Amino acid sequence: MKASEIRSTFLKFFESKGHTIVASSPVVPGDDPTLLFTNAGMNQFKDVFLGFDKRSYTRATTSQKCIRAGGKHNDLDNVGYTARHHTFFEMLGNFSFGDYFKKDAIAYAWELLTVHFKLPKEKLWATVYAEDDEAYDIWLKDIGLPAERIVRIGDNKGGRYMSDNFWMMGDTGPCGPCSEIFYDHGPEVAGGPPGSAEQDGDRYIEIWNNVFMQFNRTEDGVMHKLPKPSVDTGMGLERLAAVLQHVHSNYEIDLFQAMLAAAKQAVDRSGAAGNDCDASSPSLKVIADHIRACSFTVVDGVIPGNEGRGYVLRRIARRAIRHGYKLGARKPFFHTLVAPLAAEMGEAYPELKRDALRVTEVLKVEEERFFQTIANGMQMLEDALAKAPVIDGDTAFKLHDTFGFPLDLTADVCRERGVKVDEAGFNAAMNRQRENARAAAKFKVAAGLAYDGAATAFHGYEHLVCEHSKVVAIYVE
Ligand code: ATP
Ligand code: MG
Ligand code: MG
Ligand code: MG
Repeated sequence: MKASEIRSTFLKFFESKGHTIVASSPVVPGDDPTLLFTNAGMNQFKDVFLGFDKRSYTRATTSQKCIRAGGKHNDLDNVGYTARHHTFFEMLGNFSFGDYFKKDAIAYAWELLTVHFKLPKEKLWATVYAEDDEAYDIWLKDIGLPAERIVRIGDNKGGRYMSDNFWMMGDTGPCGPCSEIFYDHGPEVAGGPPGSAEQDGDRYIEIWNNVFMQFNRTEDGVMHKLPKPSVDTGMGLERLAAVLQHVHSNYEIDLFQAMLAAAKQAVDRSGAAGNDCDASSPSLKVIADHIRACSFTVVDGVIPGNEGRGYVLRRIARRAIRHGYKLGARKPFFHTLVAPLAAEMGEAYPELKRDALRVTEVLKVEEERFFQTIANGMQMLEDALAKAPVIDGDTAFKLHDTFGFPLDLTADVCRERGVKVDEAGFNAAMNRQRENARAAAKFKVAAGLAYDGAATAFHGYEHLVCEHSKVVAIYVE
């Protein structure tokens, strides 16, 4: 089953259960300063859960564009290393706004997976929040899942709810205990069952999270009961597609095949040809993943920059470019992947097709800029790697400041070599520079007070005692 069919089967199933199909919201959240990027299907319904907003429906279903590359849910460092994480992915979800609760949510999920998608029941596991006897009993008695495949996970120390099975959108906002469904990819893949010490492999993959929204967490850390208990679920389309297409990694699904091939062609054309890079290279996966995140963020209005969302975009783009460089690319290649991406995903997301040329241009400018410094930066990093077992803070900072290497890019290279970066030293160097810049800015503004624009001569520091009450021009040395 192709990813596009999986997406529509999901939405139609929930439509048949009385849910309204709602379009994905942009990856840049409209009016939520607590969020860098949309990280889950529930984001666009946050105010509905909180009771501030009302809709004409109490059940909804979506396929939501998500970015997890910053903030509370940050998977940037996982990409290239796990079979299941992307920076951009599509989250399939169903939502109940004070309508049905645990019993129906679990029954719907089970019916869709085992009847419609025909997944073998014996390959499915469920986790519940440690104290959630209600969800445990639903899995055991209503669904008939054997007790050995229902795992309680949780750690409610003094109401802090530190657990994979307590879902939070961010540090504040709607949250609640959850029940996750895992699929066992089989003993040939490394990893242990949910809740075990070896869980962090790719054998037992979490495919679907059912969150029982019960609280709103405020800045002071207090959990306030929501007006009505609700349901929010999220299932990664790419993870479900891997299961249904009988492959072990998200990167082997149909959606990624064309992108991996395009990534290989693009780096080959840009200087890597003859390097014989393996089509399954982690670097190609990183590139194929990152072009999705970069393209969708530019479509929604972000441009690369030094702060906030623009800096997240820059970090993702530069990380991808560095992986292309590693494979041998010596001139811009990354932006050429927007066109094949639009061909692959433009039907589901027409905005991508509509905006493909502009997105290509924006990424091209960023890429040309980074290609001017990457060779020298890589050389400096290689020299440092050859010398020391740790990359010190000053070196990491110089790479950032002079060569435009975001810290996570440097860390990514170092991780490949088993070398650590002194992050604390980097932060200290960064703070020192900020202090210096602040002091210099003060000097400049003060000096500007002494320059009245009419007179051409610099009056000297003695005039700082405000003979001129307004700044007419900033003095620049
Ligand atoms: P994991 O533990 O594997 O990192 P998660 O618990 O952080 O996943 P949730 O916040 O519960 O994920 O999100 C709901 C669903 O979205 C997950 O069950 C998974 O199918 C999918 N998902 C989450 N993060 C990613 C990602 N980075 N890439 C692809 N799919 C994802
Ligand atoms: Mg995660
Ligand atoms: Mg998880
Ligand atoms: Mg989860």
